[in-house]
Amino acid sequence: MSAFTRFAPSPTGYLHLGHVVNALYVWRTARTIAGRVLLRIEDHDRVRCRPAYEAAIREDLAWLGFVPDEGVEPPVRQSDRGPIYEAAFARLRQTAHVYACDCSRKQVGGERYDGRCRERGLPDGPGRGLRVRIDPGVERFTDLLLGPRVQDPARQCGDVLIRDRDGHWTYQFAVAADDMHQGITHVIRGADLVDSTGRQLRLGRLLGRETAPIYLHHPLVLDSKGEKLSKSAQATPIREMRRAGLAPEAVIELADASLKERPHGF
Ligand SMILES: [Zn+2]
Repeated sequence: MSAFTRFAPSPTGYLHLGHVVNALYVWRTARTIAGRVLLRIEDHDRVRCRPAYEAAIREDLAWLGFVPDEGVEPPVRQSDRGPIYEAAFARLRQTAHVYACDCSRKQVGGERYDGRCRERGLPDGPGRGLRVRIDPGVERFTDLLLGPRVQDPARQCGDVLIRDRDGHWTYQFAVAADDMHQGITHVIRGADLVDSTGRQLRLGRLLGRETAPIYLHHPLVLDSKGEKLSKSAQATPIREMRRAGLAPEAVIELADASLKERPHGF
């Protein structure tokens, strides 16, 4: 299988330095492993995503010199992939225990779902989510930067939500289905997502994936308060840097410099 990775922004805002750091890791790793890069637009959240942001992200990426090998023409968007998620879900239903759950986010509380609807036998329907049972057992992987990791998704998060109560596929499910269907061999993403890797591996296997992807979780760019840029009010869009007259090379240097400041910033 040839090496294939992805750059997968959500069009919920403009590209900022955090994205540039991720893009640097994605394209540099792709070069190292002689792999290709897919641009995948993660717009499964219809409420927050905007076509104007997607257009701006594509334009800023091109300006910075990041050229995807796939996903430019035709574009690859999660919002166009409903039939693929339906098919993945139909298969999941046959091989795993999938059940309806009417718990609100508030009822679930923290990150772990205790499985209280597992044996209730609720029918599917409006206002009900769908979960898949996650059996106890560890997932092991060797992160290309962080080294060996062991996670137990049943203890961490419990049964994973596949479709939410509004009928939308969840991020965890859509990404696991996409990575498998698109043949992604290397997943390169921010260290804030490392805790969900075990459940991604488990979901992939439940979906029928035979060879797990290789993971690399990289340090994040934080603002002066230690907040992740995507959640920060201080994140300057690349657009604004362009308007202020910065050259693409200068923006890349800024991203590189932010990494040197925090080489062990996990
Ligand atoms: Zn429930």
